[in-house]
Amino acid sequence: MAIFDSLPQKSFALADWVDGKKLVGKKLAELVRADAAREAAKLPVKPGLAVILAGDDAASQIYVSGKEKAAVEAGFTSRVVRLPASVTQEELVGQIHAFNNDQTIHGILVQLPLPKHLNEEQVLQAIVAEKDADGFHFLNQGRLLAGLPTTLPCTPAGVALMLRELGRERPEHQLEGRHAVVVGRSNIVGKPMAQLLLSGLNMTVSMCHSRTRNLADFIRSADLIVSATGVRGVIDLNAMKPGAIVIDVGMHRVDGKVTGDLDLKIAEERAAFYTPVPGGVGPMTIAMLLYNTLRNAKLLQAQHLQA
Ligand code: NAP
Repeated sequence: MAIFDSLPQKSFALADWVDGKKLVGKKLAELVRADAAREAAKLPVKPGLAVILAGDDAASQIYVSGKEKAAVEAGFTSRVVRLPASVTQEELVGQIHAFNNDQTIHGILVQLPLPKHLNEEQVLQAIVAEKDADGFHFLNQGRLLAGLPTTLPCTPAGVALMLRELGRERPEHQLEGRHAVVVGRSNIVGKPMAQLLLSGLNMTVSMCHSRTRNLADFIRSADLIVSATGVRGVIDLNAMKPGAIVIDVGMHRVDGKVTGDLDLKIAEERAAFYTPVPGGVGPMTIAMLLYNTLRNAKLLQAQHLQA
């Protein structure tokens, strides 16, 4: 079994979500969510997503509400627990254990960042691997590294789905053997992204970060550029190869407007395809969260039937 078995197996026609050069994740996300809703309705127990929010970070509140709304719209059971910023490690882990033992819950997510006094690693690893909705459990990270099917981190999985679909319908844009440059090496975006491109698409992958020398040389030779730095102005797309594919994972609020890491005007001129911001990668993250929960629910319910 291959790593891409962990992505939705349905095909999504490009005509329904690609607009000229724009890989419109917002539209693909709607299709993935609708598919998840159809699949959820076939299960004996509807998929359940539990989200735990500790503290009152304004952005986190918005993200959690978005996830709750998406789960309800897909017909999932949705549970949100809002804990005060003063919550103790024991209380938070106790809440996770309660969801681990709750048969109506199949995906558990702890919204990050956590208040500073909490141990993020211990909190995330308290979620049982079978109910990990974000792909952050060490067992699932290890399976990804081994190229085995697993729960994938949502943002890179969303990007991988877009690229898989592009290559399926447009063989001239298949990326096998080509050079991917991933800029950013976080555990939630950069590293799993690189792994998916390597194992899933058979690309030759360079991982760049803040210590990389001569970043422009990598950009110049890239067939695929994934920017996940969270810093604007790091990558100069003037150096890119005409016809490369550009994925902008970054999200920034500038003068009240959401923008990405990159100057996408250059991508519009020179890239074969690119993800706009907003409406590109961001919406795919929530769609893949629902898909992960659905996948967990199918696997857990099949185990339950066998028991
Ligand atoms: P992160 O943990 O801060 O990691 C940023 C990475 O960028 C680090 O590996 C860092 O290198 C690298 N970097 C920083 N400055 C650089 C430079 N000058 N040159 C080259 N590399 C540089 O961030 P993250 O969590 O991965 O998120 C990255 C961005 O994606 C953020 O804007 C975040 O908001 C966005 N994001 C979006 C979504 C979505 O759904 N659209 C989801 C998750 C994240 P070092 O390791 O050397 O420090």
